[in-house]
Amino acid sequence: MDLIREQLIALLGPSGVVEAPRISAVGNWRGHPYNSPLLLRPETTEQVAAILRLCNQHQQAVVVHGGLSGMVGGTSSGEDEICLNLERLQKIESIDKLGRTMTVESGVRLQAVQEAAAAAELFFALDLGARGSATIGGNIATNAGGNQVIRYGMAREQVLGLEVVLADGTILSSLNHLLKNNAGYDLKQLFIGSEGTLGIITKAVLRLRPAMPARNTALVATDQFDKLPRLLSHIESALGGKLSAFEAIWDSYYQLATQGPHLGAPPLAQRHPYYALIESSGSDAESEAEVFLAALESALNADLIQDAVLAKSEKEQDALWAIRDNIDALAAIAPVIIFDVGLPIGAMEAYLKHIETELKSQLGLNKIAVFGHLGDSNLHIVVGTESEDLDIYHRVEDILYAPLQALGGSISAEHGIGLEKKRYLHYSRNAEEIATMALLKRTFDPNNILNPGKIF
Ligand SMILES: Cc1cc2nc3c(=O)[nH]c(=O)nc-3n(C[C@H](O)[C@H](O)[C@H](O)COP(=O)(O)OP(=O)(O)OC[C@H]3O[C@@H](n4cnc5c(N)ncnc54)[C@H](O)[C@@H]3O)c2cc1C
Repeated sequence: MDLIREQLIALLGPSGVVEAPRISAVGNWRGHPYNSPLLLRPETTEQVAAILRLCNQHQQAVVVHGGLSGMVGGTSSGEDEICLNLERLQKIESIDKLGRTMTVESGVRLQAVQEAAAAAELFFALDLGARGSATIGGNIATNAGGNQVIRYGMAREQVLGLEVVLADGTILSSLNHLLKNNAGYDLKQLFIGSEGTLGIITKAVLRLRPAMPARNTALVATDQFDKLPRLLSHIESALGGKLSAFEAIWDSYYQLATQGPHLGAPPLAQRHPYYALIESSGSDAESEAEVFLAALESALNADLIQDAVLAKSEKEQDALWAIRDNIDALAAIAPVIIFDVGLPIGAMEAYLKHIETELKSQLGLNKIAVFGHLGDSNLHIVVGTESEDLDIYHRVEDILYAPLQALGGSISAEHGIGLEKKRYLHYSRNAEEIATMALLKRTFDPNNILNPGKIF
């Protein structure tokens, strides 16, 4: 690293190089280390390319940083690694209202993308709790999911084109604007979800949708788990394609997440075993509201829900979402592991009972909070580990991950693998899949300089 330090300073200027950076990452619940002695802050794609050309020549490892909200240690660094922070790639280059696309640099925050789309009377269909911190480049590099996957799909579905800098400094410009383009391989797909291991995303062409200003939101409660998937089917049919979120919340999470001075009284005073945050979005406020109310009433009549609160203003809608997004409340049971598993809805109840029993009998642990994107078969299970002992962490992980293989589940529905889950990748991917991933890695990055040691 010392060999190229002066060349990097000459390339970026003093403001582009931070020595001994102090890095605090919002998604780093697990305390992954940030030991890099050097952080680079390029301003242009050409600077990113020049950095990688130099690092590749000297076999210097590079760890890419977006908004640092990733939850699997993907941005963690060792003493011999250089960090490359993309927050100065901040331009929203253009919005094409007719073609419904936005071209952005990868350091733009997700919330800024959403706001720019709204200002153009359009809509960007990716949303997640870390919207104020996460960058669009990080969202794409992790193929982020979030709250609206049930209707619009994951980050992958929102990307039309990419500009990527490869490990040897080649700028691969694939800034496609078309919804349909089958002219050979769709190269962008290789980099979406590759967690900074195959190339550095510097620009993206994003797909925008028509604005959906008429939002209806309710928090409902139910007494049995098997009513949640039935409620989901019922609401999906009743809303005729307008359902945009269906977030399940177990009482274990609701009790934690409704505590806090900024939240006021819980919206549903009585306790129930399960809750669902339901949202529809469309274009006509009056008719959407009627259909939404009728869908809830028919669910009540069918005994699928026992209680409900309907948000009457944007402020009340935000207050309901604040409960779902209040993962800071998990500090009450810290230290915790936040799991992000995928499994068929029909297997969820038995799986949760099994892991609760095993955590209690094997490790005496009983602090568990559950919530998740039920409609996407994705649960977040938070386990209070009572200790930060790595051996305990691994035993808890074994209990949660081992049953998933037989269920056709996934150890990571949306957060990715990073460092945290790489020892368990074989539960979700077979030997041939992992070998093909390694082949791609060797092809794109033969000197193993991009985020080495992450994923596998
Ligand atoms: C409160 C909270 C709520 C969250 N909710 C969700 C959710 O609902 N759904 C979900 O999927 N995730 C969620 N996350 C996780 C996180 O927000 C996402 O993974 C997000 O996409 C990460 O973006 P980032 O810019 O912070 O990336 P970082 O954390 O900086 O990086 C993540 C990974 O991507 C790589 N990377 C970053 N930028 C680039 C780039 N430009 N080119 C190549 N590689 C890059 C990094 O090296 C790293 O491996 C949540 C996190 C928090 C803290």
